Amino acid sequence: MRSLILILLIALTPSVFAQELTSNRQRDIVFRSVNVIPMDRERVLENQTVVVRNGRITAMGNEGKVRFGKDALVVDARGKYLLPGWAEMHAHVPPIDDIEPMKDILTLYLANGITTIRGMLGHPKHLELRSKINNGEILGPHFYTTGPSFNGQTVKTAERGAQMVREQKAAGYDYLKLHPGLTKETFPAIARTAQEVGIPFVGHVSFNVGVWRAIEARYSTIDHLDGFVEAITPGIDTLAEQETGLFASWIAYRADATKIPKLVNALRDKRIYVVPTQALAERWLSPLPAEAFTRDPEMKYMKPQDVQNWMNAKTSYISNPNFSQEHAGKLIHIRRKLIYECQKNGVPLLLGSDAPQNFNVPGFSIHNEMKYIVAAGLSPYETLRTGTVNVAAYLNKPDSGVIKEGNVSDLVLLSGNPLTDISQTRNIDGVMIGQNWLSRAYIEEALKKLEKH
Ligand SMILES: [Zn+2]
Repeated sequence: MRSLILILLIALTPSVFAQELTSNRQRDIVFRSVNVIPMDRERVLENQTVVVRNGRITAMGNEGKVRFGKDALVVDARGKYLLPGWAEMHAHVPPIDDIEPMKDILTLYLANGITTIRGMLGHPKHLELRSKINNGEILGPHFYTTGPSFNGQTVKTAERGAQMVREQKAAGYDYLKLHPGLTKETFPAIARTAQEVGIPFVGHVSFNVGVWRAIEARYSTIDHLDGFVEAITPGIDTLAEQETGLFASWIAYRADATKIPKLVNALRDKRIYVVPTQALAERWLSPLPAEAFTRDPEMKYMKPQDVQNWMNAKTSYISNPNFSQEHAGKLIHIRRKLIYECQKNGVPLLLGSDAPQNFNVPGFSIHNEMKYIVAAGLSPYETLRTGTVNVAAYLNKPDSGVIKEGNVSDLVLLSGNPLTDISQTRNIDGVMIGQNWLSRAYIEEALKKLEKH
């Protein structure tokens, strides 16, 4: 009788979550008859069995040849594709004192197959979030975070810049986030102190610093291709910052593509990683009107006010006297060319879209980013590498980014083959983060709860 009551109680529990979210350190999770895209090279291993236990891939081989525990959770993955999970290397987590709303954002990332994020605007609370994710208290992608912003407002003197570097290193942030407004005095002090105490700096390149000094000082990642278009535009020395526009949007039509090799060679030689955030440019700074994006289904996960703000930003861009359809088109074109030339010449690219940022809904925007990277001329395989293999190298995590025995089990299961059609990255059938299997049913229910309108 007692056990009957217990069964009834479990059956009546309203949370499907607890049942759908399978987390068991001692139990095998097995993907059967699955096509594996291991990402070590461009290939598909057909009809595999992949066994996962306790956050690791413990076995992989031809279907029927691999053993697993009797009580294993078996996922019938016939006809589906298993890949390493992706990273969003230009993510944002709300920089606020309350952890609760951060969890919703983490869910959006996970639901989209993103198993690693790098938060690009840090807050003391993010250090707590990071340790709670690490110890399993909060379910989320692996989380790396910058500290609070270095910019023209927060850093008025070289001394203050150096002091902030030491403070953030001591606090335990993974990176320093640089924003616009740094100068020829403050930037070198930040860079020098960062080298001294051993913390990488990432993000924007201030106009007065310029990309050549940035490369020389060895940014860890340059994001948004910031400073790239300026560096290849003749006569840039004669222009004031406000004349050039956001990411050089007002002057990009004058960029000289023959100057690209010098830039990409310097980036490669100094081993600087580049996070294009091309989705930001293609959506905010392109000639397309706001309406081209506001009807995207993922907008329902944003507050209407946020979408309205994005529309306002777009309108303000398009109604600027410096804007023209033709010049905006050229901005997009030269950025695509820069991305392509980076790839072709051995500059390591990392996948990052910048979300939430204009028309970039966290998680969902990574699929747009991949689409735009393919549009820039990378193959789908090369594009997928920017979010997997390249990230493993950047983060120095050699047991990730590739599916093989012994590696971490951060995985995404797709219904279609992204090597032939990159839009298949949206076709998610489940996500594995460490020892947690998020089935499609789990993901759908979790997303349902996050709809705002
Ligand atoms: Zn950002």
